[in-house]
Order: sequence, then C-alpha cells, then structure tokens
Amino acid sequence: MGLDSFLGNPQAVTAVREMLASGRVPGALLFSGPDGVGKKTLALMLAKGLVCERAGADFCGECARCRKADQMLAAAREDFARRREIKESARRVEGLIYFDLQIIEPITKFILAEQIRQLRAIAYTRPFEFPRRIFIVDEAQTIHWQAVDLLLKVLEEPPETTNFILICPNAFELRPTIRSRCTRVGFKPVGEAIIQDLLARETKLSAPQRELAARVAGGTVARAKAFDSAEYDRRRQPWVDFLEATAAHGTGPSTNWRQIFDSARALAENRGELDGTLEVGYSLLSDLMRLMLDPAADAIVNIDLKPRLKDWAGKLRLERIEKLKAGLDQAYRLQIRNVNPQLGFETLGMDLISTGAPRSA
Ligand SMILES: [Zn+2]
Repeated sequence: MGLDSFLGNPQAVTAVREMLASGRVPGALLFSGPDGVGKKTLALMLAKGLVCERAGADFCGECARCRKADQMLAAAREDFARRREIKESARRVEGLIYFDLQIIEPITKFILAEQIRQLRAIAYTRPFEFPRRIFIVDEAQTIHWQAVDLLLKVLEEPPETTNFILICPNAFELRPTIRSRCTRVGFKPVGEAIIQDLLARETKLSAPQRELAARVAGGTVARAKAFDSAEYDRRRQPWVDFLEATAAHGTGPSTNWRQIFDSARALAENRGELDGTLEVGYSLLSDLMRLMLDPAADAIVNIDLKPRLKDWAGKLRLERIEKLKAGLDQAYRLQIRNVNPQLGFETLGMDLISTGAPRSA
C-alpha cells in the first residue's frame, strides 16, 4: 500500500508526495494526460493521503479513515450507477449526496449543471467525517457549459477545507479560466518496461506476448491488463492471410485468390467487431509504413511479426500500402453506412493486386 504501489509516472508521484510532505496541497489541482495511465488512482491516493491518520506524506490504506474513504467511494459508485438508469432528467439529480471524499463524474454525456450547483453549495460547509473534503472531478472536459462558471467561482475562492482535483485527458479541452485556476500535474504514457514487469507479475502471458501486449497498449496500464492474446491473434489472423496473399502476388507461381477471398470473408464475418478488426488493420498498416521508411525501425506495434512485416513491406511497396490505407478508410465509411464490408475487402484485394508488379507471362 501507499504511493510506492503506483505504477509509472514517477514525476507525478513525486509531485504528490512533495505536496503532502509540505502540507501545502493546492486547493485546485488538475491531473491531465492520456487515458488509462492512473490519473484517477493517483488522485484517490492523494485524497487518502490528505485524511490518513497514520502516514505522513503518504496513505496507509488500513486506518479507519483510509477504510472509510473506500466505503464512501463504493457508496457513491452505487449511487451513480442507479442515477444513470433514471430516464427522467429532473429525477436523475434529485437529492444528490456528497460524501467528504467523492468522485464527480458525468451522469449523462455531461457533468450536469445541477451536480456542480449542489457541489458548490456543500463545498463551503463543514466536512462531516473527515478533517477536509476532497472532490475529484473526473472527465472534467464533460462539465456542461452551463456549469463551468459555477465551478470557476468555487475555484476562484476555494473553501478552506475543500480540495478539488480535476481530471481530464487534455488540459486544453478545458476553458482557459478553469485551467489557470489549477495547479497542473501532467501524466505521460507508462514506459514499456514497467508495463511488461506488471504483466509478468499479474498475468500468465509469455515473454513475447507481454512484449506485444505492451506495444498494443501504447503506454496505458488499463489496456495492457485487459490484453487478450488469443483474441488479438484471432482478429489479426485474417489480416495476416490477406497481406501474405496480396504481397505474394507477382513473386510466386500464382496468385492465391482463395486465400484473398477467404481472408476477406473472415475480416467481414463478425460485423459487430468491425471496429476492432479495422483497428488491427490500421496498426499493421502503420507498422508497414514505418518499416518501409526504415527497415530497422523498432517503434512498431506488431513486434512479434517484424520479420514478416519487413518482407511484406518490401513486396507491397508504397503505392500498394497507400491503396490499403484508402481501402481501410473506405471500409470504415461503409461500416458507418452499414454496408456489407466483405465486398469492400475483396475489392481491396483485387485492387492491391492490380497495382502490383505485373508478372511476365
Ligand atoms: Zn490511513
């Protein structure tokens, strides 16, 4: 337990530790950076650090207040889940409760004006159970425009016993007036080595699978933890077959049309998953581009396929890779228009081959 258990972003952890140690935690903080790197986790750690009975510049996770903090969060989570189910907008925000530690998040697409109004009313009253209140506003970029000025007023004259921690992916999505009121703590993507270590401890993935998972996750711990190796392979295999067959055109004895059509069918098979399918397609494509520009490039996602990707990159050449990109964009548009994507993938295969080097008869 404690801040030591936080993974990655050492500069953010140090900032939090120093604030706690100095006893000067700014009334308004802004945690910004990519999704899935632990902004909310660290905000909660800081919140516990502010109320913990034992640890100095840290939290213990065991004292009565640390445990109480967890109970408050669980109760608030339940309350939010219930409210999200309510259809009638006025009733959704009826009787909002604010615990001394609370995460404020969007109930609908937005954090509603009423949420901020009630938050403001309570921020100036005495905390109930803790020496201070900590309000964590998650996805602060979703605060409804009608509520922004209300929040600004609180941040301008922060109540003595309340700390605000705003969280958002990109600080520039917030109104400058809000941004300038907050002390900013920036977060970065988590390093690959840290993610691989975590996966080694917490999953049964093999070393090559861990390497791939870290690449696919792109620096987000949450994505890395959710990585399903079998599922990724299943999604990627039709692309591998597709690329293999189209890249081989003009270099082998004959074009493997069956493999092109079969893989096109497999790519289009589960239309509910087309988003995921296209995402994998785009990742292979950008890997091909990178390797074409620099065959020694290391910054590729599908690291386990590097030798094959290099081979395909050499055979497909830029013109056909650009076609592939256009084809994926087209498949994406077809999906939005709800058109059967198989046709798109088949045409793409034929297109790719027609732009390939014609074989001498
Ligand atoms: Zn404690």
